[in-house]
Amino acid sequence: MLAELQQLLGPENVLTSREDLIPYAFDGTAALKQLPRAVVFPRDAAQISAILKLARAHRTPVITRGSGTGLSGGSVPVENALVLCVLKMDRILELDPRNLTLLAEPGVITQKIFETADAVGLFYPPDPGSMKISTIGGNVAENSGGLRGLKYGVTRDYVMGLEVVLADGSVCWLGNKCVKDVAGYNLRDLFIGSEGTLGIITKVLLKLLPKPAARQTLLATFSQMDAAAETVSAIIAAKIIPCTLEFLDRTTIACVEAYAKVGLPNDAEALLLIETDGHPAAAADEATRIEDLARSQGALQVRRARDAAESAQLALARRSAFSALARRKPTTILEDVTVPRSELAKMIRSVQHIAAKHTLDIAVFGHFGDGNLHPTILTDERNTAEMERVHHAIAEIVDAALALGGTITGEHGVGLAKKPFLKQQLGESSHALLKAIKHTLDPDALLNPGKIFD
Ligand SMILES: Cc1cc2nc3c(=O)[nH]c(=O)nc-3n(C[C@H](O)[C@H](O)[C@H](O)COP(=O)(O)OP(=O)(O)OC[C@H]3O[C@@H](n4cnc5c(N)ncnc54)[C@H](O)[C@@H]3O)c2cc1C
Repeated sequence: MLAELQQLLGPENVLTSREDLIPYAFDGTAALKQLPRAVVFPRDAAQISAILKLARAHRTPVITRGSGTGLSGGSVPVENALVLCVLKMDRILELDPRNLTLLAEPGVITQKIFETADAVGLFYPPDPGSMKISTIGGNVAENSGGLRGLKYGVTRDYVMGLEVVLADGSVCWLGNKCVKDVAGYNLRDLFIGSEGTLGIITKVLLKLLPKPAARQTLLATFSQMDAAAETVSAIIAAKIIPCTLEFLDRTTIACVEAYAKVGLPNDAEALLLIETDGHPAAAADEATRIEDLARSQGALQVRRARDAAESAQLALARRSAFSALARRKPTTILEDVTVPRSELAKMIRSVQHIAAKHTLDIAVFGHFGDGNLHPTILTDERNTAEMERVHHAIAEIVDAALALGGTITGEHGVGLAKKPFLKQQLGESSHALLKAIKHTLDPDALLNPGKIFD
């Protein structure tokens, strides 16, 4: 099969040596690795179709990969698998300002989508923390979220059309440029968030928005986590939907301050980063009302950025959270659960209780406005006794989220990491329905097998 792949793609697009394969044995998820048999770099849907036909003939599993920044083990190979990396399919094919759409190949880096739209006064809102390196195909496959999710939603809300190659090699277009289109089942949505298990995304048609004219950034700190949670409730109750409403706990604040030196108080229990955007007068008015609400809830400090540079500096406090925490211990396990917004304070207290029970260092930050939290376990994967406690803690965090009416993943996907918990959330019949859909589209179980479910 390798000789056939080399003939199809050119030898430079087929990696087989052990040294070349090592970087494709893992993604951003701690402690999961498996060497593939080979890595291939196709250029278009026709080549992908031919690769899938070959893989089918040779009964070889295919793991699609973008940049490998996934945090649920989605692009970690299984034994003897072919990794199909789309990074060479990296062209923006069309920017259509009359219809406010952009058509891209799956390997385009998310930041480039944002910059291309921005250059013509348009806006692509989804902004995962990994956007400088993640691909748009990976974002669609994971239905990635980001800091602007509260007001603007997630990747799914911007996908108007997809080209996908199915396991049998057939190429399908799902969706189109029409704002209204109800012809047939909404299969496009089925592929969004399907984590490479149903088909390979080869083109993405994205909806763009007009760029907001102004933005205001605020950073508020609190001595009580409940006061921060109450501030969030008060903002929403005042009918203000900020574009960003992010949270850091005490440990994260300390790590960020040590790393980014943005002048955060060391006595704060909680920090909120809040951004409003839109017409300049509306953004400014909302920021003033938010400032008043934070103060009335007893904020220790409220800082409001005077210009874009200060705004970027305040936003750095949240954007650097993961990197700042990662400096503390050799292994950083970024968990991802979501609860209804009313249950946030309870969820954070549960995480603190679980950390104390298992004597683990667990920081919490996340998208407070969406109810999406990232309890972040700072550990060392070489310490087997501690890793045992980490696994118990993760299961208890998931249990706590589900008990509060939450979900096992808000944005990182199920992959391998959350697979053991999916049935617990969905129940028997919904879980069986997912498997039936997978079996219909991929009867030989060749596309990313073992991810989401067995
Ligand atoms: C520092 C950091 C911050 C992050 N912040 C966020 C965040 O704020 N929000 C968020 O949602 N995620 C975040 N992530 C997770 C990750 O970046 C996203 O899931 C991202 O969408 C993955 O893109 P990728 O190109 O790296 O995909 P990969 O990791 O390569 O793949 C992810 C999954 O998508 C599948 N896949 C990839 N490309 C295709 C394709 N073309 N067709 C079909 N399937 C495909 C793979 O098989 C795999 O299952 C973060 C990760 C890191 C390391």
